[in-house]
Amino acid sequence: MLAIYPGSFDPITLGHLDVIERGCRLFEEVIVAVLRNPNKSPLFTVAERMDQIRRATAHLSNVEVDSFDGLTVTYATMRRANVLLRGLRVLSDFEMELQMAHTNKTLSEEIETVFLATSNEHSFLSSSLVKEIARFGGPIDHLVPPPVALDIYRCYAKTLPVPVPNMDLPQPLEPPKTEFHRETVGDPE
Ligand code: ADP
Repeated sequence: MLAIYPGSFDPITLGHLDVIERGCRLFEEVIVAVLRNPNKSPLFTVAERMDQIRRATAHLSNVEVDSFDGLTVTYATMRRANVLLRGLRVLSDFEMELQMAHTNKTLSEEIETVFLATSNEHSFLSSSLVKEIARFGGPIDHLVPPPVALDIYRCYAKTLPVPVPNMDLPQPLEPPKTEFHRETVGDPE
């Protein structure tokens, strides 16, 4: 059976990866499908996110990475997939995910949504949380695959993941020293 795991994956986290790995044990093939959503301003382009997912899932032989726009059920029908794979973390996820699953069911009777409960250690983890931590210079290596952590640090121009306590604050820049040259007009002599 073929399953589609749709999402933003901006970027992929260890929580997503856990769902993908477990999905790979349940289904013959899992297509991780990055949604092209014009209403969101993502940190990474769709191509970058697909590349990050490919690198993070290189150890899994039954994963394909793709992107799509429009309705997820239309994409799933086009790919002849019968299952939409989604992850559940907290109660607030459940409300939204259930609404989406019911809506998708009204659009296609053939497609079932299968939910995987998050592993305990990833229950708090989301892409936005990772970006928020990295934006303020915090460490994220334990939350995302290593190459993704590098991509994020690069994005926020951070080379040090952990801020050094009592580090001297950067001094304000001195105004540039302007030298005035007297223009020589014509022959001075
Ligand atoms: P979307 O914008 O579609 O919610 P996300 O990339 O945020 O895209 O999430 C894709 C799917 O992965 C969703 O079903 C979400 O609930 C699930 N997910 C995200 N983080 C985790 C996690 N830490 N553990 C389990 N599932 C997760």
